[in-house]
Amino acid sequence: MLQLKEPGLLRQQCYIDGQWRDAPDGRTEPVRNPATGEILGTVPVMGAAEAREAIEAAQAAWGGWRALTAQRRAEILRAWYQLMLDHAEDLARIMTAEQGKPLAESRGEVAYGAAYFEWYAEEGKRAYGEVIPGPAGDRRVVVVREPIGVCAAITPWNFPSSMITRKAAAALAAGCPIVVKPAPETPFSALALAVLAGRAGVPAGVFSVLTGDAPAIGGEMTGNPLVRKLSFTGSTEVGRLLYAQCAPTVKKLSLELGGNAPFIVFDDADLDAAVEGAMICKYRNTGQTCVCANRFYVQDAVYDEFARRLARKVAELKVGNGMDEGVTQGPLIDEAALRKVRGHVEDAVGKGARVLAGGKPHALGGTYFEPTILVDVEAGMKCATEETFGPVAPLFRFKDDAEVIALANATEYGLAAYFYSRDIGRVWRVAEALEYGMVGINAGVVSNPAAPFGGVKQSGLGREGSRHGLDDYLVVKYLCMGGI
Ligand code: ADP
Repeated sequence: MLQLKEPGLLRQQCYIDGQWRDAPDGRTEPVRNPATGEILGTVPVMGAAEAREAIEAAQAAWGGWRALTAQRRAEILRAWYQLMLDHAEDLARIMTAEQGKPLAESRGEVAYGAAYFEWYAEEGKRAYGEVIPGPAGDRRVVVVREPIGVCAAITPWNFPSSMITRKAAAALAAGCPIVVKPAPETPFSALALAVLAGRAGVPAGVFSVLTGDAPAIGGEMTGNPLVRKLSFTGSTEVGRLLYAQCAPTVKKLSLELGGNAPFIVFDDADLDAAVEGAMICKYRNTGQTCVCANRFYVQDAVYDEFARRLARKVAELKVGNGMDEGVTQGPLIDEAALRKVRGHVEDAVGKGARVLAGGKPHALGGTYFEPTILVDVEAGMKCATEETFGPVAPLFRFKDDAEVIALANATEYGLAAYFYSRDIGRVWRVAEALEYGMVGINAGVVSNPAAPFGGVKQSGLGREGSRHGLDDYLVVKYLCMGGI
């Protein structure tokens, strides 16, 4: 049993229009702890009809929510932020139990996720318009930015809380209600947020969470004309499908899809800093983030030394149940993830790569995998083109800047890229040449609420965080004022 200070934060019902609800036919599905296989509880299996109800409730609540002053909305978001901090330990325990990440990482995610509420509480006050000099003396051109309307969000399991808060914070600050469908693996973090939303004073219908049949709920969210915007974080494959489903009703979309992040270490890099960045960039969340380094390109002269120092750090990682003290790497989310990671390692080794560390499922069994480093990795291997989403660092060797830039850009993805160099000229040139939405320069982690998170190419559309994230929930209205 999961021990919580406030057991009521673990809700096994959906939150629709301010009400806690079971599925009409009573159907439920279990939620498991990936570290132990234990069933933590169940959630309702809702479908299209319940999604429609939540959307209609959001539409009904929209007028009241947008009519509040930005200051009043800010007070409510700020209260939600404070409640997350007050309950941070319980929220972190719920997250580790359903997702598997070490408790320290869950605490970090709760703080990071909460910070979006604080940040957007302030930014919502700055949805400024403009006055443009008119085309004739009796005309004025006035531009206002208004909330787009009912929003829907579909979120993944790798960041069960913050992928919701960074959508909901911007939507609510802009004056929009939002209906959320969390991932089936991690619904309890989402439902705990709903408990706190109610307490913070978020009105009924403005924030709803429903679990269940993903294609049915997704079908309603994408097909219902009341929904004016969909924000999705997940796989490129599902993102493409939802994009197509939104076409008939011409919805605005934000898509945060897959990545295939290069992590480049140039020969003038501070190698210890590069190793430190690589550790967090690769092994955080057991390598299961869309911005995790997927391909390490290390320049010839420093290749062996970088590999040696990285291996020394990897040997310090402690694999185990994320609830246990000192554990720094939890299990993978499920069997399919384990098969993929294992497949990538076997493919690389079969084609000539060498295992420098790890390389196989962990002795703990289940979905645990050893933190792994592969050397002598080459372009024809699966890990060069596909997202591994696991704790495997493949090290490719390169000679010069032009070569590595071409290799780094040779992917349909364009989310995050990282590189280490101390040469200011090279820093500018490489940063400009990388076809990515985000570039970490001598930094292995880039996300924070003040910065625009998002990708180019097939990694997605739109930005989350920063003032650009607010824009994604606003529409521009132009008022042409004549007869002045
Ligand atoms: P992953 O492979 O990492 O689980 P997915 O893209 O499959 O990523 O899942 C991300 C989110 O998309 C989850 O909430 C999942 O339930 C949802 N999802 C998956 N398929 C569909 C679909 N056909 N329609 C709507 N949502 C979907």
